[in-house]
Amino acid sequence: MKTYSKSDLMRLAIEEHLKCEEFPRVGVVISKSGKILATGFRGETKGVHAERVAIRKLTKDKLYGATVFTTLEPCIELHEGQEVESCAQLLIDSGVDEVVIGVLDPNGTIYSQGFRKLLENNINVSFFNRKLRQAVEEETFEFGDVHKVYGCGKRRIPVVYSGTEIKVQFSQKDERSIDIKWSTLQSIHGCVDLHSSGGAIRIASGARNFGDVSDPTVFRFPSHCERLEKDMIAIVKPNNSTFYVLIQLIDIFENDIIFKWEVRNDK
Ligand SMILES: [Zn+2]
Repeated sequence: MKTYSKSDLMRLAIEEHLKCEEFPRVGVVISKSGKILATGFRGETKGVHAERVAIRKLTKDKLYGATVFTTLEPCIELHEGQEVESCAQLLIDSGVDEVVIGVLDPNGTIYSQGFRKLLENNINVSFFNRKLRQAVEEETFEFGDVHKVYGCGKRRIPVVYSGTEIKVQFSQKDERSIDIKWSTLQSIHGCVDLHSSGGAIRIASGARNFGDVSDPTVFRFPSHCERLEKDMIAIVKPNNSTFYVLIQLIDIFENDIIFKWEVRNDK
């Protein structure tokens, strides 16, 4: 039986997820000492999550001490008394030793909770390397899922090396939009760069919340890129846009940020 390196196994999990015909794509490889024990992808068995597809192929003693590579963070129970146990629970009960995750689930109700649940149950958890994470990120979801936000809200997103693009649409029905991009996350320095394809980003110096900004044009020096630190508020108003968006950086982590946004018509 051939022996694979960890990054080979990550790549093989990505090959599995590319077999999915529906989004989100999820691929799984289960291995022990670099040898492949089983693989699975979402949809291989209709309606069954990839982790379960792969786990079902193995006996309990094969699973014991194994490492599971999954391109997407395992799901958690979404409500009490759920009929089918979550994949996080399934992994915990299976006796595997380690789970290597591609990307955290951007779905706000799951985000990082599958990861945390595994850790709390003494499973070793690590992540795909940055380059492969980016590949997974780009292929897992339909573009609109991760990269589009509406109206106002708060979201935690990964900032990938090439920059994470977000389309801020005025509302679900009003399709006017402004493109922004987050890049160059430097968690050590507590900053991240905000770009706008249409230019014209202003820092609302001194403002501590959106209510403090009544007229965006009082703030000077519009630019196509601004470096934001925690709590700072930026106003993005591209030249021809009939609305603008306020952006506040709420928190910074090693690979992710949390930001808030609010759209306003330009009166
Ligand atoms: Zn699942």
